[in-house]
Amino acid sequence: MTRTLAQVADQASGCTKCRLAEGRTQVVFGAGAPDADLVFIGEGPGFHEDRQGEPFVGAAGQLLTRMLEAIGLSRERVYICNIVKCRPPGNRDPRPDEIEACTPWLVEQLSLIQPRVIVTLGNFATRFVLDTPSGITRLRGQIHHWHGRTVIPTFHPAAILHGGGERSRQFELLRDDFQLVRRVLDEAAAETHPGDRPVAPPGEVAIDVPELDQLELF
Ligand code: URA
Repeated sequence: MTRTLAQVADQASGCTKCRLAEGRTQVVFGAGAPDADLVFIGEGPGFHEDRQGEPFVGAAGQLLTRMLEAIGLSRERVYICNIVKCRPPGNRDPRPDEIEACTPWLVEQLSLIQPRVIVTLGNFATRFVLDTPSGITRLRGQIHHWHGRTVIPTFHPAAILHGGGERSRQFELLRDDFQLVRRVLDEAAAETHPGDRPVAPPGEVAIDVPELDQLELF
């Protein structure tokens, strides 16, 4: 029997499959709409996420929320998660065995949500999803395909904050990438409802598309 996302989250909350379980306050499984058309994948929870149990609630998360709002979306209408669900100590990069242990959670999440579009935030998530050694600078700004999904890699918001901030060229590119996300979602909605008038008011993306193809990810 297929489990619900909430049931999977409940089981994940007691996960001890890797060493990250030892240092965490709680598992940060993911947040947002269980039937979202758009999923964001980051690297791993940081200090604030570990405390609050929700992904992207710190400074990088605030930037992500603003980028979403700029394309007419809210956090509640998308789904946000990470490659690893527990905070690596001192915010170090997740190790290969930790990623391997955590991957089944991500796979089950994506198979249940069945998003049309996946945005990978930063090098880590992008390399993992697209299985490539190429870096984000090379891969961003384009549409990629993975298991029948559209993948749009972009910079991690933390990289913008630690880099040149909102006056930087990177920030401009991040904005461009979010516009691309919006275009792709609009096109997908138009294909599903050909001839329909937009179902969302101007400034909002019509992503409440019924029934996605039931496509296995792996
Ligand atoms: N950075 C991430 O990659 N994920 C979070 O949840 C927060 C910061």
